[in-house]
Amino acid sequence: MRYQCDACGCYLDPGEGRVCDECQRKADQRHRITERIRLNGQQYEMNMEELICQN
Ligand SMILES: [Zn+2]
Repeated sequence: MRYQCDACGCYLDPGEGRVCDECQRKADQRHRITERIRLNGQQYEMNMEELICQN
């Protein structure tokens, strides 16, 4: 059985986790941005998510 990244579908070594390093980094970044935006209001949350996904 091959392990695949939950986010982008690239192949992982067993034990590396559910997402690759790159996607883990993006997830952390997105989480921080989402938390920050939430302070200013929900309206901007979706916009920031879209920006990250296009990278
Ligand atoms: Zn990935």
